[in-house]
Amino acid sequence: MSIKGDKRRCWEIIKDADSIVLTTHVRPDGDGLASELALYQILKLLGKSKIYIVNQDETPDVYKWLPASDKIQLLKDIDPNYFDTIDLAILLDCSNEDRIGKVNEFIKKSRTIISLDHHEDSDCYRDCCYVDTDASSVGELIVSLIPNIWDIITSDIAVCIYVSILTDTGSFSYSNTSPIVFEIASKLLKTDIKPDYIYRNIYNNKSFKYLKLLGRTLDRLEAIESGKIVYVIMPISVYKEIGATEEDNEGILEVIRSLRGLELIILLRELENGRLKGSLRSEETINCNYLAKMFGGGGHFKASGFVINGNINEDGHRIVRKIVDEVKRQGWV
Ligand code: 5GP
Ligand code: MN
Repeated sequence: MSIKGDKRRCWEIIKDADSIVLTTHVRPDGDGLASELALYQILKLLGKSKIYIVNQDETPDVYKWLPASDKIQLLKDIDPNYFDTIDLAILLDCSNEDRIGKVNEFIKKSRTIISLDHHEDSDCYRDCCYVDTDASSVGELIVSLIPNIWDIITSDIAVCIYVSILTDTGSFSYSNTSPIVFEIASKLLKTDIKPDYIYRNIYNNKSFKYLKLLGRTLDRLEAIESGKIVYVIMPISVYKEIGATEEDNEGILEVIRSLRGLELIILLRELENGRLKGSLRSEETINCNYLAKMFGGGGHFKASGFVINGNINEDGHRIVRKIVDEVKRQGWV
C-alpha cells in the first residue's frame, strides 16, 4: 500500500464546504473527467447546491455522453472573479498544480485546495490530499473516500466510476487491474449499467480523422534496440493536413502497444507555439515516470508524459536519443 495524505480529513473538508470547484488536468482523459462527474453527482445528491466543474481544455467527444457532462465549464467561458467566492477547490487526477494549466491561477483564490490522486509523483503539498498509488484510478479513490457510497449510488454515478476505472486500466488489461477493481466493477454493474454500451461509446466511436492519423503515425514508426524500443516523431503539419486535433491521438498508443517484444514506446508530437509533447509507455522494466521527469514531466511507472519547448526537426531525434541512452545506462534493455 502506498497511501499519502489523510482521506478522512479530506472528506471532512469536503463535507464542511459550501461552494466547491472540481477540476482536472489539461487535455483531460477518461479518469479525470469521469471522476469529476462522479464526485459532482455525489455531492449534489448529498444536498450541496454550489458545485461547479471547471477545466482548462474541452471534453473530448467520446466523453460528452457521460452523465452530467453538460455541467463541465471551460475556464475561458467563465468570469475570473467567480473563484473569489469558492470555499474549496478539488484537484482530481493531478500530480501537481501545473497539471491543471491556467485554472491554477484562479483556484488559488479559493479558501482551501485539496487533491485526490493516484500518481506516484503526486506532491501532496496542498491543504489536504488523498493519494493512493495502488488505486487504479481516481474513480476507485472516490469509492473509498465516500462513506456509504453503495447506499446512495445511482446508475449515473456508477457509469462515471466505471468509466474512470475502465479507461485507466486499459479496459481491465493493465497491471493496476487489482482484485479491488473487479470487486468495484461487479458492484457497479449491479446498478444496472451496460458495459457493452459504455465500451462502444468510448472505444468504438473513433473519428475518421483518428484512423487517418493512426495510419500516418504507424507510417512514421521506427524500431530500434532489436525492436524493444519504438518511436514516432510527429510534426504538427501532419495533424493540420488531416485536420486532426489533440483528442484524435487517443487510442493510438494502444495500437502500437500490441507489437510483439516491445519494451518502450516514445511518441513525440509537435504542439502549437513551439512546444513538444512526449508520451511514454512501457511494458515491464522501464520506468517511464523517471524518464518523463528528465524533461519536467511525470505520470506512472508504465505511462508518463511531458511537455517541453523545442523544435521538432532540430530537437526530436536528440530527445529520443537522450531517452534511449538513459534506458541503456540504467540497464533496462
Ligand atoms: P499521456 O501520454 O497519455 O498524455 O499521459 C500519460 C500519463 O502521464 C498520464 O498519467 C498523465 O497524467 C501523465 N502526464 C502526461 N503529460 C504530463 C506532463 O506534462 N506532466 C506530468 N507531470 N505528467 C504528465
Ligand atoms: Mn488517472
